[in-house]
Amino acid sequence: MALRIIIGLALTVIAFAVAGRRLWWLYRLSRSGQPAPERIAAVREHPGRGAETEATEVLGQRKLLKWTVPGIAHFMTFWGFTILLLTIIESYGDLFSKTFALPWIGHWAFIGFIEDLMAIAVLVGIGTFAVIRLRSNPKTEGRKSRFSGSHTRAAWLVLLLIFLVVATLLLYRGAQINTGDFPYAHGAFASQILGHWLAPLGKGANQAIETAMLLLQLAVVLGFLVLVTYSKHLHIFLAPVNVLFSRRPDGLGGLQPMRSNGKVLDFEEADPDTDIFGLGKIEDLTWKGMLDLGTCTECGRCQSQCPAWATDKPLSPKMLILDLRDHAFAKAPYLLASSDEARDALPEAVKAEAQRPLVGTAEANGVIDPDVLWSCTNCGACVNECPVDIEHIDHITAMRRHQVLIESEFPVEASGMLKNLENKGDPWGMGESKRSEWMTELDFEVPVVDGPIGDDVEYLFWVGCAGALEDRAKKTTKAIASLLNTAGVSFAVLGPAETCTGDPARRMGNEFVFSMLAQQNVETLNEAGARKIIASCPHCFNTIANEYPQLGGDYEVIHHTQLLARLVEEGKLTPVTPIEEKVTYHDPCFLGRHNKVYTPPREIMEKVPGIQAQEMHRCKERGFCCGAGGARMWMEERIGKRINVERIDEALGTNPDTISTGCPYCLVMLGDAVSAKQSSGEAKESLQVVDVAQLLARSVARPEPAAPAGPAGPVAD
Ligand code: SF4
Ligand code: SF4
Repeated sequence: MALRIIIGLALTVIAFAVAGRRLWWLYRLSRSGQPAPERIAAVREHPGRGAETEATEVLGQRKLLKWTVPGIAHFMTFWGFTILLLTIIESYGDLFSKTFALPWIGHWAFIGFIEDLMAIAVLVGIGTFAVIRLRSNPKTEGRKSRFSGSHTRAAWLVLLLIFLVVATLLLYRGAQINTGDFPYAHGAFASQILGHWLAPLGKGANQAIETAMLLLQLAVVLGFLVLVTYSKHLHIFLAPVNVLFSRRPDGLGGLQPMRSNGKVLDFEEADPDTDIFGLGKIEDLTWKGMLDLGTCTECGRCQSQCPAWATDKPLSPKMLILDLRDHAFAKAPYLLASSDEARDALPEAVKAEAQRPLVGTAEANGVIDPDVLWSCTNCGACVNECPVDIEHIDHITAMRRHQVLIESEFPVEASGMLKNLENKGDPWGMGESKRSEWMTELDFEVPVVDGPIGDDVEYLFWVGCAGALEDRAKKTTKAIASLLNTAGVSFAVLGPAETCTGDPARRMGNEFVFSMLAQQNVETLNEAGARKIIASCPHCFNTIANEYPQLGGDYEVIHHTQLLARLVEEGKLTPVTPIEEKVTYHDPCFLGRHNKVYTPPREIMEKVPGIQAQEMHRCKERGFCCGAGGARMWMEERIGKRINVERIDEALGTNPDTISTGCPYCLVMLGDAVSAKQSSGEAKESLQVVDVAQLLARSVARPEPAAPAGPAGPVAD
């Protein structure tokens, strides 16, 4: 008895010392990051929201359960391990007293039953994981496997350790039954089966097995504890913390302003020598950013949904996080050194790691290759999938900000767009005078705001640069205006006073140009007294609704498909002309994933007679990007398959007559891909890409007050 106490306690002390040292090191590393007072304030100010998040994301495993089979397997393993903590308490108690039982509940058959049930649940869970890993093996599936690039050996070791935890537990309990030390007379069904198998060995052998398995079980549990602190399974400890301090409702929608030392950066006073401009060194990350790196489970869900990865580009959101993590860990001794002398005494490998540029080519020994950084479309699929709420887009944007503002390193072809934004207020450099031309092609007058908006105007229609200047998008704008006019909605536009929202500049990383444009727009909108804004471009929608509040612009923003769906529902617009076409709808990322608008465009199509709507395989929350977001619209796509072509290939699989969408960027990107397919004979000549508003406009009857009764004609598209 004394020996098992000594061995059990010695193992515990050693394991806690090793794991504790590692956790202390990780804590110090995260503390070497920048402050993030806004995250702490958000948790303090909304404790209920934090509790709800923990309940749904951690205890309820909401995001994991989106993937049914691995989700259920993880749910069983998580809850199995949580409840099996009781058995660890029992094991420690047994070190000291063979007849130990949990206080009060220690002899309840239900507790014995639930412990065994959870042990079996864990075995089923890890068995499922093993099958999933065998079926999605990076060696055979290559890039298609979500585990490609993950540390798969460590994952197998963890599965083995979990198996050993449960196996030793059940053997120990089975032997306990035969020695008469087991606290549960009934209920522990699995232990009873093991006990039945071990019974023929006799009481002496069972006593030896009981002691051996008790110590072995504690050794495996403690070994697992140590391994957790040195592996991706660190998420067991970090995920609840990371989820708590993540942006709410998620890391999508608007981008955060630039911060230096915890304060929002004021460009008029900022000093590049003392202030932090984006992410130029790993230590520029906030402690929350560091926490993100340590929390990644290497599950590859993000990678499996990334359009850049799916089209053979070098960007994988998972590997981006892992590369940053590996660099942070390798540079840690340098960051944690207490003095210059201590740094000088570090091994050469550590000093070399500390000198690596965060963004740089392989020749420059960069941590993140520029092709990785600039491949991101900001589609949000990674953030949406990540079960531990890692904020990939924020990290990518922070690195882009540093590259653009400090290093002046970015894809050269985007410089024209940035110059146009600065000088002309739109990405094409067409200038304000062109912004009103689309209105001249309508058969009714669109009021242009000149001074404060009167009470008789309900909505300000934010047309956007593409909507006002790009030929294909202008058709959408005219369709929306016609429909609003038909429905009797009072609206006005800013006309030449409108300028780019700044979205392409901000997504590129040029926060300076974004601030300039955004401040100008907020001033214009506030002077006009705008309250309700209709946006036809999801990028404008996202920026005005989610980012302008950072600059004092608070408006009620609605996407045109939301308003049109409502007008149809209220009977103010009545689709009558049948459109006998097969239509597949493409979800724009900035409307869907970033702002959760999935239903209204589909409702509109449902109401148009004749339309046979068919979904693509990747739709709604799992919609696949068109390739234009993240300012990619203004960059060349030189690596891999074009993202818009990949999307159109998927759309063609539904054999559509028309592809509909709700975004001018998507309209242009998908339209270009369709044209390419038509040129190569892979798509029928009649296939077209249109906005949902154009479909509705084709079907809606225009009021003809003075005309005699007769068939109503559709509005112009
Ligand atoms: S935002 Fe989209 S493109 Fe960028 S890393 Fe995430 S999934 Fe990939
Ligand atoms: S970033 Fe999130 S989704 Fe991607 S591998 Fe890590 S834990 Fe999984």
